[in-house]
Amino acid sequence: MGWATKRERKNAVKARAAEPSAFFSRCRVVGCDKSARAGTENGLDTRFCRAHADRYARHGSPYRVSYKSAEIEPYRRAAVAWLEANAEDLWVRNAIDRVKTLCETAGPHVEAFRLRGLSPEERSRAAWARLRAAKVDPHCVIAAWLAVEMKTKADPQAESKAEFKQVQAAKLVHRLASGTHKRWENAPGGPKEIHVYPRSRGRVLRHIGKALDEACGLLVENRLRSIMETQEAT
Ligand SMILES: [Zn+2]
Repeated sequence: MGWATKRERKNAVKARAAEPSAFFSRCRVVGCDKSARAGTENGLDTRFCRAHADRYARHGSPYRVSYKSAEIEPYRRAAVAWLEANAEDLWVRNAIDRVKTLCETAGPHVEAFRLRGLSPEERSRAAWARLRAAKVDPHCVIAAWLAVEMKTKADPQAESKAEFKQVQAAKLVHRLASGTHKRWENAPGGPKEIHVYPRSRGRVLRHIGKALDEACGLLVENRLRSIMETQEAT
């Protein structure tokens, strides 16, 4: 995002915050009596109060927080095992090709500390390029999606919106190749290290998750039932 656009957005936020209070409505989350925000720095979400807008940005739902890794892990392991046993399956190969294409067409690798000012779409491409640079196995990427599919199917209170699944899986994938790490042996005053992690929230997760959803769509449609049967049998 350029400076001009950033300033325009800032001004829009200010203008909206200055609107008369009659313009403010209630947060849309049932049972929440706070006012909806006219806009916050991390986007112009007018539907929720600050806390719920923040939860929505980070977890993909204003109602539910992300699954803990321990909750996802058994499903992820089952998905990896199933993918290994079915590596030649038509739909597995289809999903692998799609994930590879996402990584290969993502453009140049961008260091995590150079992400400032990029649009969410550009940041999501950078995330795919990071997976490529880190040589992450596409099976792991696909397993993340399958794990979230299985977990939400097994959870009677799961958030049913596609966006929640997309954000959950994107967070897992984001973690597979996250951060830029550098070390200078001969820096003044001794060796120096930097570790920069891209923030895992907001619209960039929606872009990653949507692409992942599309890449795994046919595999899920054709094979999720048999993957789940295998998982339940173990
Ligand atoms: Zn609220």
